Amino acid sequence: MQRRNFIQQSSLTVIGMGVFGSLLSNNKKTGTGLSVNGKRIESRIFELAKFGVDEKGRNYRVAYTKGDIEGRAWFMELMKKAGLDPTIDAAGNIIGKRNGKNASLKPIGFGSHIDMVPDGGNYDGTLGSIAALEVIEILNENNFVTEHPLEVIIFGNEEGGTIGSKAMVGDMTAEGLKQKSQSGLTMAEGIKAIGGNPDTIKSCIRKKGDIHAWVELHIEQGGILEKEKIQVGVVEGIVGIVHWEVTIEGFANHAGTTPMNLRQDALLAASKFIIAVNEVANSVKGNQVGTVGKITVQPGAYNVIPGKVVLGLEIRDLSGDKIEMLFRNMQKRAATIAVATKTKISFERQANESKPALTDKKLQQFINASAKALGFTTKFMQSGAGHDSQHIASIAPAAMIFIPSVAGISHSPKEFSTATDMANGANVLFQTILKIDKE
Ligand SMILES: [Zn+2]
Repeated sequence: MQRRNFIQQSSLTVIGMGVFGSLLSNNKKTGTGLSVNGKRIESRIFELAKFGVDEKGRNYRVAYTKGDIEGRAWFMELMKKAGLDPTIDAAGNIIGKRNGKNASLKPIGFGSHIDMVPDGGNYDGTLGSIAALEVIEILNENNFVTEHPLEVIIFGNEEGGTIGSKAMVGDMTAEGLKQKSQSGLTMAEGIKAIGGNPDTIKSCIRKKGDIHAWVELHIEQGGILEKEKIQVGVVEGIVGIVHWEVTIEGFANHAGTTPMNLRQDALLAASKFIIAVNEVANSVKGNQVGTVGKITVQPGAYNVIPGKVVLGLEIRDLSGDKIEMLFRNMQKRAATIAVATKTKISFERQANESKPALTDKKLQQFINASAKALGFTTKFMQSGAGHDSQHIASIAPAAMIFIPSVAGISHSPKEFSTATDMANGANVLFQTILKIDKE
């Protein structure tokens, strides 16, 4: 479907210019007439999906496990065949290089990750990885050499805390390396298991200016593109995430003998606060989200008025200021609720917060223009999920391309994107890289 679109598009241009032959050869020189092999992309998605299936038949290509190691070996073999000469850096990231015409230029990087959450899907990360390889294959098949060197990067352990990309920008601490990963190994042990070296982890650091530009193609993992029937999402940024532990203290007392007007019911206060979080999150325009996703009640009995409740509050947005503003408003509401319910409400900000990361404006325009030139509809949008690109954005102009996720399902074996959408996204990635290269 996409290929047909593309042919129509280019023949329209040809008629307009009236120079059929010369345009075709010119296209070949500029790369604009080339397009990816959608069948190859989909068949590789299915091939990679065979790695990391556990004894119960569940998808389990969790970072640092056997499935991850085997999947990575398979991927590196394909990289080798494509002439990328892959190496593994100290953090376990796989890096394949293709020379450009001008060795003094900094590389254009693109790729994603191939690890998954337990019982995960076959498209999250893998699409961006396989599409990156596809870009290289098409360049090879057409003997096309870019000006800039190209680097395909497959980050290690994205799902367990964007470990590979964090290390690449110098944000991996000794403490972080000691943490347990989903595989059961510590991060340090896991990195070793996939061929990295935690002792020399700093050697993988890229400084500002080391990478000319970074582009990651990814499935949306939400339902906006599908619902609005948009083919390509241009990501404006990756939201910041802040967590607070909210403690509500009342007084546990006999549920039969304490009259309604003498109660200090912590769960009642919590209920009012949960509604307030929802109302505050809805009180201003924008894409911000606020959630209470966790609750514990003490003592937790039919016949005792709840004395203490602990909630988990999360706020996400592209603007750090907006997150703070929303939180202040939630705090104000909490103060009123505390008075009305004769309880005490306190907030403890958690250390695991991630800052919002904005993508590069010029790269956003390149993606949008590339998609439009291929005849696709586009939408500028934020990413509500974390990605390796959010770290890379701190050392290089970074951008992300989204394609629709069917029914908005992700981190599930039901995750699915159509072959057409995947080919569309890969073509946009390809044309964006060529645009960056020519700029
Ligand atoms: Zn991902």
